[in-house]
Amino acid sequence: MRDPSSLHVLKKWDKAHVWHAFTQMAEYEPLLIERADGCNLVDCDGREYLDGVSSLWCNVHGHRHPHIDAAIRKQLDEVAHVTLLGMAHPTTVKLARGLVELAPVGLNHVFFSDDGATAVEVALKMAFQYWRQCRVGCAHQTSDSSSAEQRWAQPTLQRTKYLAWDNAYHGDTLGSVSVGGVARFHAMFRPLLFDVVRLPVPDTYRLPPGVTTDSACDYYLNQLEATLKQHANEIAAVVIEPLLQAAAGIITHPHGFLRGVRKLTKQYGVLLIADEVAVGFGRTGKMFACEHENVVPDFLCLAKGLTGGYLPLAATLTTDEIYEAFLGRYEESKTFFHGHTYGGNPLGAAAALATLEVFEQEQTLSHLQPKIDRLAEHLVRIAKNPQVGDVRQRGLIAGIELVRDRQTKEPYPWEEKRGIRICQHALAEGIWLRPLGNVLVIMPPLAISPDELDRICAAVESGIAAVCG
Ligand SMILES: *Cc1c(COP(=O)(O)O)cnc(C)c1O
Repeated sequence: MRDPSSLHVLKKWDKAHVWHAFTQMAEYEPLLIERADGCNLVDCDGREYLDGVSSLWCNVHGHRHPHIDAAIRKQLDEVAHVTLLGMAHPTTVKLARGLVELAPVGLNHVFFSDDGATAVEVALKMAFQYWRQCRVGCAHQTSDSSSAEQRWAQPTLQRTKYLAWDNAYHGDTLGSVSVGGVARFHAMFRPLLFDVVRLPVPDTYRLPPGVTTDSACDYYLNQLEATLKQHANEIAAVVIEPLLQAAAGIITHPHGFLRGVRKLTKQYGVLLIADEVAVGFGRTGKMFACEHENVVPDFLCLAKGLTGGYLPLAATLTTDEIYEAFLGRYEESKTFFHGHTYGGNPLGAAAALATLEVFEQEQTLSHLQPKIDRLAEHLVRIAKNPQVGDVRQRGLIAGIELVRDRQTKEPYPWEEKRGIRICQHALAEGIWLRPLGNVLVIMPPLAISPDELDRICAAVESGIAAVCG
């Protein structure tokens, strides 16, 4: 048994010294998790919580998976850190190869960093530098009728903008915040951010007047095309969260939208950055969300689930075409002058490689469908609750949106903290969840069992009844 007085001290130090992310510290109540096993967290008082949000969307195969644990221990006996500035480690090299084999075909080059935000920053800067260095003979010239000479004369230097959607979330560094658009988090920093060509979120729940579920995809794609027609020559890249915008509140895009975006970006000669930081590694039912619509982006950003949720590691994958635009003699200064000290570190790479091996060994993806179906059944039932305006699901990601009025879709004022209060209720029942405003999020590790899913959904339901009933 733990000495209760020392736990008391730890909680005091937690409040005094640890400044928690996305947390109002004046209201923070220390919750110290001491250990975990599978999908269960255990706090310092010995209380257990089922992890309904995958350690904030990153855990994949469960906590303390024996294969991943062993891989990290083995790596530790060799070396923990090797820089990628001019050298490498075999584990990191193997991981790069593994990712290339797994990713959509043609993404042959892997730039490692350490977080989702940095994976996106890398893609943004690569896209920008690509256009600076690409004047002729580059496949991404617009398909206009200009002659080769005209194109030669047409510099690509004015491609300094990005296109992104409202409510996008790409991380919290300033570049990522610039392309992001969650007003609650980002509006404050507006004066520091660069300009982005912005489109309304392709939301399947709150459709504009006159737009139906069937016409939504075309409607949003037409908007994109009109914008590209006007701005393609200024835009370095389009940045998208494939299939759904997670942090926005699990906002799902219409089916076919991603494929349409790829088609239009190709047609108008703009690069496509797919931010799969949240949706990658099986969460949507396939290894990568882009696979659902047979899309190969120019950049694929990966983080969160990459190491199974063990260690900070991220990767930005790109094509031969982008990569080759950076090749040249040293004096040409085409080098990608960007790096993160721990990017691609062998410990993280060992965890990531082991995570990929577990997908193989346990056939994780082929065992997912019954769980996805089970979650869907629960959502059908939960959707009948009058305070639930919408339920949205892609694979093992679900959002349950609470509304004051189902007819008008009027949200609860965010100050009422409905989502937070329901999650507090669930916590008391031993289920750990974290909401996004009025949207309850269920995003368990892929290793979740059907029984555990039942328990999570039951807690959500009783929480809704208690807080909104
Ligand atoms: C979480 C997230 C990020 C940021 O990842 P960090 O590792 O927290 O920097 C970027 N993009 C998306 C879509 C995310 O969900």
